[in-house]
Amino acid sequence: MNSSQQSLLRKLPGVDHVLELWKKSQIAEDIPRVVLVRSIQSALEQLRKRILAEDKALDEAMFSEGQLLHLTQLAVDKAMSYNLKRVVNATGVVIHTNLGRSLLPESVARHVAEITNRYSNLEFDLEKGQRGSRYSCIEGILCEISGAEAAIVVNNNAGAVFLSLETLANGKEVIVSRGELVEIGGSFRIPDVMARSSAKLVEVGTTNRTHLPDYERAIGAETGLLLKAHTSNYKIIGFTAEVSLRELVELAARYRLPVMEDLGSGNFIDLSKYGLMKEPTVQETVSAGVDVVTFSGDKMLGGPQAGIILGKKDIIERIKKNPINRALRIDKMTLSALEATLHLYRDESLAISTIPTLRMLTMPVKEILSKARRLRNRLRKMGNNRMEVVLTKSSSRVGGGALPLQELSTRCVGIRIKGMSANGIEAIMRKTTPPIIGRIENDLFVMDMRTVQDEEIDIISSIFKKILAEE
Ligand SMILES: *Cc1c(COP(=O)(O)O)cnc(C)c1O
Repeated sequence: MNSSQQSLLRKLPGVDHVLELWKKSQIAEDIPRVVLVRSIQSALEQLRKRILAEDKALDEAMFSEGQLLHLTQLAVDKAMSYNLKRVVNATGVVIHTNLGRSLLPESVARHVAEITNRYSNLEFDLEKGQRGSRYSCIEGILCEISGAEAAIVVNNNAGAVFLSLETLANGKEVIVSRGELVEIGGSFRIPDVMARSSAKLVEVGTTNRTHLPDYERAIGAETGLLLKAHTSNYKIIGFTAEVSLRELVELAARYRLPVMEDLGSGNFIDLSKYGLMKEPTVQETVSAGVDVVTFSGDKMLGGPQAGIILGKKDIIERIKKNPINRALRIDKMTLSALEATLHLYRDESLAISTIPTLRMLTMPVKEILSKARRLRNRLRKMGNNRMEVVLTKSSSRVGGGALPLQELSTRCVGIRIKGMSANGIEAIMRKTTPPIIGRIENDLFVMDMRTVQDEEIDIISSIFKKILAEE
């Protein structure tokens, strides 16, 4: 350490000194003392590190009252803001697991707020005046929409699959096609879940082709269940064959075995009417005679995180009584959000227009283009000659491990700023308030307008205005 470093370190004020400055300035009134002290410590620690690193830009002026208050204020702002915050999803991935999957419809968010800051009849039967079932509020509507006999909801679909396997196949063999041994993100793999639920996996067929006799040959005294898993995030194409759910149900009936399907995403509306690829709906799966079907609440359904289990009455009863069910149980936030979301499904056009996930998935290119033009015009009006704003054509993705081959034609607003790389712009946008998460395409920072909400056009423009002003 040289002498100027030593002298700077000696002059670095102590925590108490800065605390006094804050008290005098009277801006600290509503900041909790622990936060203030920690922020001051962190500001002083930054200065200390810069001295030790021989930061040439650092001199005694940095210890001025104004600078010390400024540095502390930055640390206070950081400490006082929530870590979980809203972001603008300009990635074009509609069901973006990293960005919170589905947005709740307005009416749903209102209902959640109404239920969660008040008491409710969560487990109270208002008719009888006694303890009621937590699931009674959604079982009826789930059965109404899907045609299933009974329903239960748990924390997420991974939990739903686990609980169903643990109940139905505990210790017994479960037959699955080799083409369906799916791994979805976050270490959820069918074979591993199976092992943990103490079911014994029996693989049949090959990766690309599995036939009905493959299943039949594998059935024996130890068989407990036939399982079909939706290959959500991959497709086997070319020379392929799979056994339909209906055929599997017929086979299982002959041997008095149950059939379960993990639908993964699961939707109540056939979106092929709106130009998307055909996927089996929950209603079709139920009417094929499946004993149990599981799917997520926050993928194509567009509701809260949840794992929905539908099926035959006796089987759902057994699942409800499984003690593990208690460990996977959902709270009133999920229940209120799910019930309100399901209500929207009683009217298909209402569902498509009010559930953000469905609205974004079925949004006509014309509408996306008009949003893109509005943002482009706003940004061009700023008249910054270092910034170039263009419209580009691209593809959005469904996300959530659903419809991996689906191309969704879209329009983006691309940004180029002189003297800055696309990666540089991307990094800056990630740190604004709120952060704007875009993507990089052909060396251009692009914002896919399919997933940018109408009111976010204003937010994005004012953020660019601020950034360009600071430059
Ligand atoms: C997404 C998915 C799951 C897990 O669902 P979560 O709700 O994320 O727990 C399980 N199986 C399949 C086939 C999936 O696509």
